[in-house]
Amino acid sequence: MSLASRDEDQTSQLTPAEVKALWQSSSFCILPWLHIYLPSSGAASPCCTNFEYVYGHTRDHGLQDLLDTPQANALRAEMISGRLPASCFRCQSAETQYGAISYRMDMNRRYADQQELVVGTTRDGKRAQRKMLYLDLRFSNLCNFACVMCDEHNSSSYAQNEAKAGRWQGPIVQSAIANWPQFWQFVDEQAPHLDEIYLCGGEPLIIEAQWDLLRRLIDRGHTHIRLRYNSNLSMLSWNRTPAFELWEKFRSVNLHASVDASGERAAWIRRGTKWPQVLENMQQAVQFSKSHPQFNFFVAPTVQILNALHLVDLHDELLRQEAAKPDHFAFNLLRTHTYFSIQNLPDADKARVARDWDGLKSRLGTSHEAQNMRTRLDEMRAFMLQAPTAPARAERAALLASLKRQMNFEMDDFFRVFPEARNWELTTSPDPTLA
Ligand code: SF4
Repeated sequence: MSLASRDEDQTSQLTPAEVKALWQSSSFCILPWLHIYLPSSGAASPCCTNFEYVYGHTRDHGLQDLLDTPQANALRAEMISGRLPASCFRCQSAETQYGAISYRMDMNRRYADQQELVVGTTRDGKRAQRKMLYLDLRFSNLCNFACVMCDEHNSSSYAQNEAKAGRWQGPIVQSAIANWPQFWQFVDEQAPHLDEIYLCGGEPLIIEAQWDLLRRLIDRGHTHIRLRYNSNLSMLSWNRTPAFELWEKFRSVNLHASVDASGERAAWIRRGTKWPQVLENMQQAVQFSKSHPQFNFFVAPTVQILNALHLVDLHDELLRQEAAKPDHFAFNLLRTHTYFSIQNLPDADKARVARDWDGLKSRLGTSHEAQNMRTRLDEMRAFMLQAPTAPARAERAALLASLKRQMNFEMDDFFRVFPEARNWELTTSPDPTLA
């Protein structure tokens, strides 16, 4: 029986025993109590995997108030009533279809000691305590790369290209924060509670506000906060200040490098990549991690049809170049555009990928990170082996059409860099019945 049906009074508050029971249920996620995802558009959401559900906009609310809008209350109320909101479908499908540890499960585990924060919430979703522990901040879409799987909201370079081609009429650079004095006041108030800030972009290391935030936290003694980054690693300093100089003052820094492939393949997938520079920065990060145990460096490839067959080559190459540690890879499965999905690989390629990934798993050690890599590889394998939602050839046609829209290239050039694609029966035919 749900908690709501036991008690019709929507203003009654959750007791510690009810919160404990709620925590064990598959409808509960702690994030709407302590976290906010703020993309460069300024439209705040529960998390980066539920970006469709909007709490409100920074134009209309301060950051602290965004977690207490009617929309945020409604999301929590639904969880309390025993239903996982429909907008949380990505967590649900990860759990039920691929047997994966969903973001929801991961966060409930991480913040298992925060039950007190949920106690006192009313059944209509109003929080009793207004503490923020975890922030996902994407100050701006400012980015020097235009990755082929990106969009105008996450990359100003992508927006610029689309605007030049007449396909984008919106702003080139977007800023998440509408009222900076109010934002800094929020940071000062919440910093004592904050556990982690995740900084993404755009490219966070070329966004001035990211550097201002670090300096402010250091100046006010809030270096207990764990920092986590997703960066394209095109640069590691700003106005002659090396990032390492500020990072070494924090309790913990996790730097995830969005590197999907090496050399020419990297430049095709993440347009703007200057591979020698990225490689050198990765080597510097590995060196820094050796002398700073609080600094963790991960290679974080976004896994999709264009790099799945080369993932193990990338792993091995980066080890040879001393640009990565063997068990410090954090794979992200691309799910936003279905035509980039690894489910669209032909069966023979899927079999090869599965073999390669099994081989990599067997070579990994016994560390916690290695175990995480194995789990992730298994989850991705299970996902890949499922049939795509649309006919695979039609999806591959959509992939080629998307690449052609973004870049002017000859097919021979494309096949030189992605020779496996010769077997993909690529066509720009829009015929959706292609199997
Ligand atoms: S259940 Fe999943 S999608 Fe929903 S808020 Fe939690 S982590 Fe995000």
